[in-house]
Amino acid sequence: MLNIVITGAPGSGKGTQSDILVEKYGLKHISTGDLLRGEIAKGSELGMKAKTLIDAGNLVPDEIINGMLESVIKANLDAKGFIFDGYPRTVDQAKNLDTLLSAYNEKVTIMLNIDVNHDLLIERLLNRDKTSGRADDNIETINHRLEVYQSVTLPVAYYYRGTDRYHAVNNNTTIDDCFKQIEALIAEIKK
Ligand code: ADP
Repeated sequence: MLNIVITGAPGSGKGTQSDILVEKYGLKHISTGDLLRGEIAKGSELGMKAKTLIDAGNLVPDEIINGMLESVIKANLDAKGFIFDGYPRTVDQAKNLDTLLSAYNEKVTIMLNIDVNHDLLIERLLNRDKTSGRADDNIETINHRLEVYQSVTLPVAYYYRGTDRYHAVNNNTTIDDCFKQIEALIAEIKK
């Protein structure tokens, strides 16, 4: 399997790059944000618990997310690989992902950390707010999400940084340029 972890601050373009990766490599896209928004739309108990946290820009507890992830992995073991988008977001989640995958003799093949400068992130998120309909795309919540990212999610990059799986990707320019960097990194693995 080709298992890709794609992380980066809110608004860094994880979802956009994941969509292109799905198209090109036929991987199963697992976006924990999309899964949670799906639960909210269904009005499930999990969704109701998550909604208040998400709307305030806080993370959903690891137990909820880890359980959700485990069922999606189990249901898609015939995939060519997974793209984990928005997961892991805490070091505990990163450890949990390694444990989950190793139960199937699988591992994270590559970790892509998408880097975008702060002003550009805000600009892109505020632009997204015009069309996303997401309750968390307003300036107060965006600022809080960026703080949570700095304090809780950035350490995930350090978790991978010591291994040869870690790669930083620059997305300060265009979607195409960012994808070219990712493509080159994947081509390197496939050699
Ligand atoms: P973005 O990266 O643009 O903030 P996501 O769709 O990835 O958007 O996530 C939206 C929200 O869903 C997060 O702010 C958080 O509340 C919740 N969430 C998503 N993934 C996780 C996760 N792995 N752990 C905890 N909370 C999560």
